[in-house]
Amino acid sequence: MADRDVDLFVIGAGSGGVRAARVAGGYGARVMIAEEYRVGGTCVIRGCVPKKLMVYASRFSDEFEDAEGFGWTVPQPTFHWPSLTANLEREVSRLEAAYLNTLERNNVALVRSRAVLEGPNAVRLQATGERVNAQTILIATGAWPHYGPKIPGLEHVISSNEVFHLKELPKRIVIQGGGYIAVEFACIFAGLGAEVTLVYRGENILRGFDDDVREHLRNEMRNRGITVTCGHTIAAVEKAGDEFVTKLSDDSTIVSDKVMFAIGRRPNIMGLGLDSVGCKIAEHGGIGVDEYSRTSVPSIYAVGDVTHRINLTPVAIREGHAFADTVYGGKPTVVDHSHVPTAVFSEPEVGVVGLTESEARERLARVDIYKTSFRPMKATLSGRDTRCFMKLVVDGITGRVAGCHIVGPDAGELIQVLGIAVKMGATKADFDATMAVHPTAAEELVTMREKAVSYGRAAAE
Ligand SMILES: Cc1cc2nc3c(=O)[nH]c(=O)nc-3n(C[C@H](O)[C@H](O)[C@H](O)COP(=O)(O)OP(=O)(O)OC[C@H]3O[C@@H](n4cnc5c(N)ncnc54)[C@H](O)[C@@H]3O)c2cc1C
Repeated sequence: MADRDVDLFVIGAGSGGVRAARVAGGYGARVMIAEEYRVGGTCVIRGCVPKKLMVYASRFSDEFEDAEGFGWTVPQPTFHWPSLTANLEREVSRLEAAYLNTLERNNVALVRSRAVLEGPNAVRLQATGERVNAQTILIATGAWPHYGPKIPGLEHVISSNEVFHLKELPKRIVIQGGGYIAVEFACIFAGLGAEVTLVYRGENILRGFDDDVREHLRNEMRNRGITVTCGHTIAAVEKAGDEFVTKLSDDSTIVSDKVMFAIGRRPNIMGLGLDSVGCKIAEHGGIGVDEYSRTSVPSIYAVGDVTHRINLTPVAIREGHAFADTVYGGKPTVVDHSHVPTAVFSEPEVGVVGLTESEARERLARVDIYKTSFRPMKATLSGRDTRCFMKLVVDGITGRVAGCHIVGPDAGELIQVLGIAVKMGATKADFDATMAVHPTAAEELVTMREKAVSYGRAAAE
């Protein structure tokens, strides 16, 4: 079989790979992209998109409950899981088709195959055995769920890969993990009516987030009936008929209909042939790259989760775009990984940008903290036991808002906009000078006058 030649070969048609391929194609490069599963990658097929749609589904239960306080009488609502999953699949397929269309419009040749490296300028397509020569190769293979150490019964456990395809809604589910995926699915299943136990080995959920946010969300989740068990791991899972008996590290057991692990994701590099070409792996386990996403092999680049920098869709997309601009557009572009706003689509939602209180205390000479916790207006009539939390972390020397943390309705939407202000270097005085929008929850962000606490360097040490 004759070799094929292209300018750019992209391995993986997810967020980063598709963006890079279509922009490079738009610049006139001859591009081929390989995908071993479905075009669109994790975000579209089994990540952000179907998850957020499930989040929406899960929130109706609160709306039905809250309606009564506003004068509505809602007949006993029922939920049909197969309708939700069928509708999700239809939307995912629509998006997949849109991605295919984008590739086609930009003259990107798609091959439905696993691809592995065969040299600094060659890949092998496993579906056909064909070899493709490429001037440049971009690795955009994403990440894969990690299951931790082998424990008895691990074969019974599902990950976020399978969760969208369950035949029925589990009435009881045990979820291991404390990161955003574990927390989001705990809230999704609780909202849909399941009995949920979240098991996390650390002292509190959402490691890396601000401590107040972690505490606030954990309390909110507990208020909503989710059992949050910290300081334990799952030691074994046993199948007993249709049920599963999960044994924790303290020998206690939980009976459920499903057990899900969401304990982290690892860069998807297994069997890719990185060793054979001498591509170096960084200390954190991702492919090592420079600021232009170039690996230790000059003809090979890598973007997205496989580089394990910041594992979020918009970051993978930016990195893919910057790669194409740099290599094919004559515009060397470095992605700025600072001040990346992010959300956790829990119930209530979390939105954060910038430094946590403890990060600020490590990095800044003086830190001022402003925070507030209040009952959202809607809860006054609905009677729901919930509170919003907001916190500003301010550089005490420059007055710049170094971090902003929100737990409450629409925190994800709010933090996108606040991210602009924080990125632009807005100060606390700028926040204060901004007129409030009344009555909103967000007005608290511009009306926090009293410092909750101030730290000087000496105090931080
Ligand atoms: C449940 C879940 C929820 C998430 N929610 C959010 C969210 O709300 N917001 C957010 O910003 N991010 C979220 N993420 C993270 C987001 O999905 C990823 O950061 C993003 O998809 C990374 O893009 P990527 O291009 O690096 O990889 P991916 O999108 O994972 O794409 C990699 C592609 O490469 C393919 N592939 C792998 N190896 C090969 C090979 N050898 N040959 C051919 N093809 C190959 C894979 O099949 C896959 O399609 C979520 C992730 C999960 C799992």
